[in-house]
Amino acid sequence: NLSLKLDRAFKTLKGTGKITEINVATTVKEIRRALIDADVNYKVAKEVTDTIKSEALGRDVLISVSPGQLLVKITQEELTKLMGGTKEDIKLSGDPAVILISGLQGSGKTTFTGKLGSYLKKQGRQVLLVACDIYRPAAIDQLKVLGEQIGVEVYAEPENKNAMEIATNAIAYAKKTGKKTVVVDTAGRLAVDEAMMNEIEALKKGLNPSETLFVVDSMTGQDAVNTAKTFDERLDFDGVVLTKLDGDTRGGAAISIRHVVNKPIKFISTGEKMENLDVFHPDRMAQRILGMGDVISLVERAQQSFDEDEAKRINSKIRTNNFNFDDFLSQLEQVKKMGNIKDLLGMIPGMGKAMKGMDIDDDSFKPIEAIIRSMTPAEREHPDIIDGSRRKRLAAGSGRTIVEVNNLMKQFADMRKMMKQMNKMGGAKAAMSKML
Ligand code: GDP
Ligand code: MG
Repeated sequence: NLSLKLDRAFKTLKGTGKITEINVATTVKEIRRALIDADVNYKVAKEVTDTIKSEALGRDVLISVSPGQLLVKITQEELTKLMGGTKEDIKLSGDPAVILISGLQGSGKTTFTGKLGSYLKKQGRQVLLVACDIYRPAAIDQLKVLGEQIGVEVYAEPENKNAMEIATNAIAYAKKTGKKTVVVDTAGRLAVDEAMMNEIEALKKGLNPSETLFVVDSMTGQDAVNTAKTFDERLDFDGVVLTKLDGDTRGGAAISIRHVVNKPIKFISTGEKMENLDVFHPDRMAQRILGMGDVISLVERAQQSFDEDEAKRINSKIRTNNFNFDDFLSQLEQVKKMGNIKDLLGMIPGMGKAMKGMDIDDDSFKPIEAIIRSMTPAEREHPDIIDGSRRKRLAAGSGRTIVEVNNLMKQFADMRKMMKQMNKMGGAKAAMSKML
């Protein structure tokens, strides 16, 4: 685990008041080893750490922070620079704007096509997804299912075995139906092969997309870098999509790929659900690699998923001290909509470590939900009436223990107490909007 290793590396510096050639050398060596372990190419890792070293020694006199903090900051800055510095948006020009999706089989192209469709739809664009994986009939159905799920139309010609023809017809169809953006999902092979390269190259020449994206599985480590290189030599793509960054974060792939092909990473995918997509921010990724959490992405995702009217309604219930179990249930639903609970919590600094070995998922809420659903409408609305005998009934009705019911009642009472205090301080609204 990279962040643990870096923790250790930075700890070497803790307590020492000054950055010297000697203590930097030890720390820098640890940082380099940690980066290499996270799949950063050896040469790249050496370059970064050499820069960190000279930066650190140079800045020593000027800034009065602890050496550890300073090295963290410099490391983060260097990693950010290496990943392009600032975020880069996808280009959407042309009528319709065409986005071509490329990559190996299993890298996550079809899933990403759906996610991108949903992302663009949320920006108010009319989108058409095109199924151009002509080798696997199941791929067409997969995209259709995703399209239905996100409410975006999917164009397919199951009988047609010519990807170029399908894509061309799709673009004509988009023009006719006023769709401004066309996302073309393509076929991939298990390994780079000539036939696939010829096909995707021909699609790029023929369709003249405003954006060609290369999708790559970040878990494939050094292979990801080699594949990126091969695709870029043939396609000269515009941007990279890093997928499967949910499991054991291999942020290293982002650094190496950027370094080798010098193309911006534009999106990262962190799960199988349609919501698990984030715009790539080099600074946030650098923070994440360093184990500082990715709070800003978390907040953005929360903003996207939370229903604004519902948030306002809940807010007013809190302000008037009327927050009840119905509201509690609705909040749980909102949280679940945001995606995998563990991923979300993992983005909060410090939480990743705290949750190690813990088993948190959507199911963790089931007991709570079961108890609340066993309540009568009156009980949900006026939790104060839930006395001992009602608690026994709730335990029996939900199949949970009386201890679990009592715990929930206690948690809920604590929550209400906290809300009341916030209201007294007049800060409920400020606190809520901070939370959202
Ligand atoms: P394609 O062959 O390139 O079109 O890849 P798919 O989109 O069919 O994805 C292959 C598998 O990876 C599917 O089971 C997806 O659900 C899964 N997948 C895609 N993106 C992610 C991701 O970001 N995280 C995880 N955990 N799984 C993903
Ligand atoms: Mg596919």
